[in-house]
Amino acid sequence: MILTFLGTGTSNGVPIIGCHCPTCSSKDPKNHRYRCSVAIENEKGRVIIDTPPEFRLQCIRENIDKVDAVLLTHDHADHIFGLDDLRGFTMQTGESIPVYSSENCLNIVHRAFYYMFRQPVNKTHIPKLTLNILNKEPVNLIGIDFLPVRIKHGKLDIFAYKFGNVMYCTDCSRIPLSSQKHFFNLDVLILDCIKYAPHPTHLSLNQALRIVDKYKPKKAYFTHTTHYFEYNEVSELLPENVELAYDGLKINI
Ligand SMILES: [Zn+2]
Ligand SMILES: [Zn+2]
Ligand SMILES: [Zn+2]
Repeated sequence: MILTFLGTGTSNGVPIIGCHCPTCSSKDPKNHRYRCSVAIENEKGRVIIDTPPEFRLQCIRENIDKVDAVLLTHDHADHIFGLDDLRGFTMQTGESIPVYSSENCLNIVHRAFYYMFRQPVNKTHIPKLTLNILNKEPVNLIGIDFLPVRIKHGKLDIFAYKFGNVMYCTDCSRIPLSSQKHFFNLDVLILDCIKYAPHPTHLSLNQALRIVDKYKPKKAYFTHTTHYFEYNEVSELLPENVELAYDGLKINI
């Protein structure tokens, strides 16, 4: 399967509106970050994790013309506010797209996007979605088991997702004891790493590197990064098995 980083930026995106710092002014596309999302695809189809505000632009950039299912990590605006753009797919097929997440997250989705769930749904310009609660069990999509793994995002409990031997773990400040077993022996760990300095709800560079050191994935990619991270500057600080992810990066897994 192929995983594509659709977006790798923190909640502001990079460049930040009105900011003229070297990263925000950079011409290097690796310093331009849409909000966080990934696409996982194989010969059976495509799964998206999170639909950020730039979801439509991400789909156009990556020529995404079909989505089989969506997994949401949590209900923050930078992860769900592109949900309405799923209409681009359901208008073409007439079929609904299943959306999976925790009960808490789906309750918020149901409230924030109330117009999608009023009955009867007979307007073609409204996305047809079904909401499916995940708890501890994996869900099989496009022939792959996706396991929800609880992580801490400040005080919140949100989901990371493990599929194959890959962990997608964005918006993380701590891995609770009960979830730690899922982080050992990974081929790929995609991990939140917001900036150099500590943050109450995200991992700093040192904290993210400590997690890599503890769990020893074969390869780690850092995501959800701010304008404090100039791509080349940070890349030089990283050990060989760790890379800063960038928008459009594709990895074979
Ligand atoms: Zn976020
Ligand atoms: Zn900036
Ligand atoms: Zn968040």
